[in-house]
Amino acid sequence: MYLRPSLAVLAVAAIALTLAAPARAALNVFACEPEWGALATELGGDDVSVFVATTARQDPHQVQARPALIAHLRGADIAVCTGAELEIGWMPVLLRQSSNAKVQPGGSGYFEATQQVRLLEVPTRLDRAEGDIHPGGNPHVQTDPRYMRVIAAALAQRLAQLDAAHAAAYAQRAKAFDDKLGQAIPRWQAMAAPLKGVNIVIYHKAWIYLTSWLGMNEVATIEPKPGVPPGGAYLAQLLDDIPKRQARMVIYAAYQDARAPDFISEKAHIPAVMLPFTVGGTDAAVDLFGLYDDTIKRLLAALGGNGGRS
Ligand SMILES: [Zn+2]
Repeated sequence: MYLRPSLAVLAVAAIALTLAAPARAALNVFACEPEWGALATELGGDDVSVFVATTARQDPHQVQARPALIAHLRGADIAVCTGAELEIGWMPVLLRQSSNAKVQPGGSGYFEATQQVRLLEVPTRLDRAEGDIHPGGNPHVQTDPRYMRVIAAALAQRLAQLDAAHAAAYAQRAKAFDDKLGQAIPRWQAMAAPLKGVNIVIYHKAWIYLTSWLGMNEVATIEPKPGVPPGGAYLAQLLDDIPKRQARMVIYAAYQDARAPDFISEKAHIPAVMLPFTVGGTDAAVDLFGLYDDTIKRLLAALGGNGGRS
């Protein structure tokens, strides 16, 4: 009879306190792509407020510099992007329009994932005739969790540098994330063992990190040159090549048009596999762990013959 009212009073007081002083995140993070938003959330927890500029259904090479994006970048403490010129068509405009000195390239509030790792497919010569190439190397590093581990360690350090008051918390979450990935990677590799040596057709050259990790071989691309859509003659040649090159499946990202992969699938009698490519690309890719897990499951399903569709 005595305890009850006093507990109720305490509860009310606690709610009032919560309302009076809402927990405020220390850092506003502007993530260019969903994978970096997911990583910032893993590492930052309650100490960050994350805005993700694009969705898994958007082509990160081609994004409109909308006023809403400029407004979000204006209030950001750090921009976390892929870099290696993936966002060259839109980030420079956003950075300029935001007038936010904190997030400009070269400063501590600008983080490029591709700066933390060694890139593959660095062109030996630059030629615009080779299509919309990535001159710094292939920027699509998020498809290999071993790269994600390296990038995570660097980003955690950067967050701690910007928000020294919570440095211990960033370090703790970075360790937990690294431990979890460290345990998952051998499991994924064991799961993906049947994919080793499998020949595949890709859409855009966006998979070298994944295929290198799993030991798959890219034997043809739907895009004749990076960023260039295929024409009829090219597709006919590709259909001719598929049996010769013993391609077992054609893969494409969630943001890409399914028509060309579906056409090839139908004509060449190999499954077309839509992969999440980033967090949110499929229902199962709810976070980075789901991204790698679902990618491998879909590839295995395609190899098993049901087309990898879901
Ligand atoms: Zn690309």
